[in-house]
This record gives sequence, C-alpha cells and structure tokens, in this order.
Amino acid sequence: MHSAARSRTPAPRPITIAHRGASGYLPEHSLPAKALAHGMGAEFLEQDVVATRDNHCVVLHDIHLDRVSDVSDLFPGRGREDGRYYARDFTLAELKSLTLTERVGEDGAPVFPGRYPGGATPLAIPTLAEELEFIAGLNLSTGRQAGIYPEIKKPAWHQGEGVDLSVLVIETLAHGGWAATPDQVWLQCFDLNENIRLRNELKAPYKLVQLIADDSWGESSTVYADLLAPGGLTQLKGIVHGIGPWLPQLYELAPDGTVMATPLIEEAHALGLQVHPYTLRADALPEGFASLQSVANWLVSLDCDGIFTDFPDQTVAAFDALGLAPARS
Ligand code: CA
Repeated sequence: MHSAARSRTPAPRPITIAHRGASGYLPEHSLPAKALAHGMGAEFLEQDVVATRDNHCVVLHDIHLDRVSDVSDLFPGRGREDGRYYARDFTLAELKSLTLTERVGEDGAPVFPGRYPGGATPLAIPTLAEELEFIAGLNLSTGRQAGIYPEIKKPAWHQGEGVDLSVLVIETLAHGGWAATPDQVWLQCFDLNENIRLRNELKAPYKLVQLIADDSWGESSTVYADLLAPGGLTQLKGIVHGIGPWLPQLYELAPDGTVMATPLIEEAHALGLQVHPYTLRADALPEGFASLQSVANWLVSLDCDGIFTDFPDQTVAAFDALGLAPARS
C-alpha cells in the first residue's frame, strides 16, 4: 500500500466532522449539540439544511419533522397524506414553537437508546443563519477555528416545492461572511446533478463533496452503483473536491471476519478527491470492528481524510492516541 511505503513522518490527521453536532450526547442539530462539538475539538460542524414555507433555511436532518420534534402534538392534522410532517409546510415562526427531541424510529422508540432523554428541554430548531453566527461567535470567543459543513438536502424535491435551496444556502453563507474563508467550508450533497450545478452554474466558492448513498435508499436520481463501479469516480473530476461514502462502502468482511478495504479510497485519491465517510458511532460500531479506536486506526492506515462522527470527543481522542500531526483542512 502506498501509504506504508512512505517515510514515516506522522500522517496528517483526518478531520473530525461533528455529524449533526455532538449528536451522540444531545439532540441532533440543536445549538447545544454544536457548542459541545466545538468544545470537543471537532474541526468541522455539520449542518443539514431544508427550507421552510416562507423560504428560510433551517438546520434539520430531514425534510420531515415528526421523528425529532413535538410537531404532531402542537400541529395535529398538519401532516401530509403519507402521515409525515414536512418542514416545508410550516413557517419559520411555527417551526420556532417546536421542541427538538432525541430521534425516534417509525415505532416511536428512540433510535439510539441511552442517548440524551430530553423531552421537556427547550431546544429549538436553528435557522442556518443563526447557527452560522453561533459558530462564528464561538470561533471568536475561543480562538479555535471550527469550519462548517452544510448539506443541501433533497434539492430536486425542494425545486418541486418551488424553492431553490442551493441558492438560498449560498446566499446565507455569503451573508454570514463565510465566502471570505472558503477553506473553512465544505458543501455536501447526495445529488450529483446539483453538485454539477453548484460548481458550474452557481459558482459556489466552496469545496464540494459528493455524498454516496446506497441506491435502495432513494436519496436522489444519482445512480450510486455507477459511482462505486471501477472508474466510476472519474465523472466527479473537476466537479467536487471529495466524496462522502457510507462506511460499509469502504470494506468487505472476509468469512473469518477480516476487514478488507475496497479500492474506493485509493481510487478517490488517484483523482485528487478527499474521502470523508459517514458515520462513526461509539454506540453503533460498524460491523467487524470492536472499538471506536480500531475504526480510527484503520481509517488512518488507509490515509482517509476525514470522518463524520456522532462522538467528536472520542474521535479526536482516538486520533490523539496515534500521535498524528494537525489535521489537513
Ligand atoms: Ca448530513
């Protein structure tokens, strides 16, 4: 492997990207979860972005509200025919009246039992503008610069709802002053057509990441199997600066349990693309790994460039334990 052949100057440290904030400890995308992640030393803090009825950008993982808030209690009957409650159907003022809770599944039970119980804690949905100001303020007050990592959620769906989410996000970033420090911004999307548009038509001055889903999830019209096929990443060249694969796309397990890396990271690096897989969770380790540290060791052995994690403190500590040099941007 080429990394082993190098002289052993310490490898650059993969960037720790706080996935929805320090979401292992506090409800995802609440501002306290972002403050905690900042204090834990994450180099980047993630924002998932969706649009309200009145075209404000809010930070929420899904176009739906019902699994992370009390929306069905406060606004009964405001769901769509599928029974789901959509952020797009509510004004910002209405969304601000909701309380964020720990994520529950279809059955109403917590997805990750043992995480923050919440309930009555008054945690509000932040707008993207509020969150960007919050992070800029923390950067100033602590003197430690954390970058931002916004995701444009379901841009084609938003277009169908009559809103151009990418334009709103780019305007909000510029208004928050982030265009002056583009190295501190990674912009991510699952939709390849939108990344092409961000790059060529909207001229986003930020580093772009193509997220890679499994085709069974129905994330977008992008065919992820084509991206993952040998040579498939070449279609990203000149468009994005990195890829965000699902962790299980980086390896296979041999019958004896040995972790065998797929060529994805090497192929990405050969094209000059960084690799930031998702998601490292201490309470839901990837199959085949016995500890968060063992995942971190393995990622470093592959020269992986970053990792989305729900547990920024444990991830930072795992890289610290390896004596790695400061993170590349
Ligand atoms: Ca995301």
